[in-house]
Amino acid sequence: MLSFVYEILPGRVVFGAGCLDKLPEEIERLGATRALVLSTPEQGQDGQRIVERLGARAVGLFDKAVMHVPIEIAQAAREQAKVLGADCCVSVGGGSTTGLAKAIAMVSTLPILAIPTTYAGSEMTPIWGITEGGVKKTGKDPRVLPKTVLYDPTLTLTMPPGLSATSGMNSIAHCVEALYSKEANPIISMLAEEGIRALALGLPKVVKDPANLDARSNALYGAWLGGMSLGAVGMALHHKLCHTLGGSFNLPHAETHTVVLPHATAYTAPAAPEAMSRIARALGAQSAAQGLYDLAASLGAPTSLAALGMKSGDLDKAADIAVQNPYYNPRPITREGIRVLLQDAFDGRRPA
Ligand code: NAD
Repeated sequence: MLSFVYEILPGRVVFGAGCLDKLPEEIERLGATRALVLSTPEQGQDGQRIVERLGARAVGLFDKAVMHVPIEIAQAAREQAKVLGADCCVSVGGGSTTGLAKAIAMVSTLPILAIPTTYAGSEMTPIWGITEGGVKKTGKDPRVLPKTVLYDPTLTLTMPPGLSATSGMNSIAHCVEALYSKEANPIISMLAEEGIRALALGLPKVVKDPANLDARSNALYGAWLGGMSLGAVGMALHHKLCHTLGGSFNLPHAETHTVVLPHATAYTAPAAPEAMSRIARALGAQSAAQGLYDLAASLGAPTSLAALGMKSGDLDKAADIAVQNPYYNPRPITREGIRVLLQDAFDGRRPA
């Protein structure tokens, strides 16, 4: 019998090839006149182009965003926003850059206009993360949820096939876990299933032909739905494991999601049959876990933790850490079960 709670997050989304042209009017809509633009060093030119588009409405570019928002970078960006008298942040980039904008917003209440260029989905969530002394702290704060998001698929054309594949699988992971989340509800489940479908449709074409704008558009649409799913409901075993592996063994974010997802799905499958049939249906596969594995493999993405540089001697420690703090999963977490899951992920075995 149905029983759920559904809460709508605020936010304005503008989607479509060329929608970056609307940036000046969208900034005006926010009532902002002094935007600080953020990017990674690698995307400094993209950041500079945004500054130029904004003209007198931009006060500068901070192009030092890096993965997992180190506190030192967050503090430098906060200081720059203060010194320049910024009244809004415009982030152009992936989850690392959006994360830096969030680090500013959480202490200043500056509104964020996000321009995502990967499929990470952070732009649709009130979740922040900051790394201090090698430990990443995360939390939720409505102030860090971007007020406006411009999804322009033309900005994703430069995303290399490898990053497109793993970033896309990362987004599929948000959709997968939303379907069996403790807070799952019919609206988010519809979005999540549609997100998997759109990504599974777009990603193979993106990897084959990175300049295919139609495929890029499908994948980015799916990523938006993945971000909505992540922002709206809690996650489970898969996200917890990826957080453990990334934080304790310094494994790369999107790649780790790609490798672990089929195995976390196989582990959970017996306890979440409806979610599994929706995932399989969206993938056009017989089995959810095998369909996810086959999709990742067909994209040329890594399929084993060994390929990401994990050491087999660390698997026991990873299993210990993963079961330290209890958390929700439809199938209860056992040390023994997680150890087997990790071994399968380490070896890159196709789920049975
Ligand atoms: P990323 O932002 O670190 O980007 C990876 C690299 O790709 C960077 O050098 C970036 O400049 C470059 N890049 C991005 N878009 C490009 C494009 N279109 N063309 C060429 N190069 C491009 O990677 P990511 O996977 O998007 O983000 C990962 C980070 O985001 C992690 O720290 C993760 O924890 C965080 N994240 C947070 C949330 C949240 O809700 N808070 C959600 C998802 C991810």
